[in-house]
Amino acid sequence: MVNCVFNKSMSSAHLKQRLIKLVRLYPILALSVLLLAYLLGGFSEKDNPLIPQSVVITCLYLFGGLVPLFFIIAFIVVGNASDKEFTRNSGNQSNLAYEDAFDLPTQVMHGYKLALITGRDPTLTGLTGDTYLADSSAKCTITPAHVPPVAGCECGFYAYKDLTDAKFELSINPGAFLLDVDLYGIGFTYQRGYRAETQVVNLLTIPKRCMRCRILPPAVFITTYRLGSGDTTWWQWQTRCVICSSSFKAEDKLTFDQMSEKLSLKIRSA
Ligand SMILES: [Zn+2]
Ligand SMILES: [Zn+2]
Repeated sequence: MVNCVFNKSMSSAHLKQRLIKLVRLYPILALSVLLLAYLLGGFSEKDNPLIPQSVVITCLYLFGGLVPLFFIIAFIVVGNASDKEFTRNSGNQSNLAYEDAFDLPTQVMHGYKLALITGRDPTLTGLTGDTYLADSSAKCTITPAHVPPVAGCECGFYAYKDLTDAKFELSINPGAFLLDVDLYGIGFTYQRGYRAETQVVNLLTIPKRCMRCRILPPAVFITTYRLGSGDTTWWQWQTRCVICSSSFKAEDKLTFDQMSEKLSLKIRSA
């Protein structure tokens, strides 16, 4: 398999990940600050607290106002940086030139990505809405004449190199499933992943717990009708426990084996 080496800087994406992780810490931090303020006597009516009440209250105001403001500014800055990065990379893409395609280094392109299972007849669906089979070649929707991937176009199958990156994406897309994929054919290497011509899905991982109650282990796939904005109304398949799936009719349920057969891939529990 051939693989054009083309590295794309994804530093702002990593920054964004770090920011989101920090935002999740904020409630814990806020509680600790309140507790600290209480312990230091900030809320006591004593005449001579360890730290004057006015100082504690000023600090609380600063923490309540300044920290969220910092996050807002940081998100705007990171957002701007990634826009600029995207423009710069798009500019670079048109400059890609290879003297001899057969000189390109070869590399196994194994990766991870997320997919939803949608449709009355279950179908793998990317987070951007494109549907695909477990073994398929990418098609370009913008310029059907060319075979993906093409420099200067966004077509092709994408995957992360690192499981950690895919797991982070999964944590902010709880309706999605984790896929283990191999990519073949012409491919582009980025800092965090690949974009390639052909994709084979090896494995779909289902979460350890029911996707509704998040307590009991999953027992079955069920499908529900989701109302989206405009004409994006669709059937979505999720794994649920015995209790959360008990009200569903037989035609809206599939066992793991049946789903595995429908999608032609292996299904494993996390
Ligand atoms: Zn294209
Ligand atoms: Zn449940």
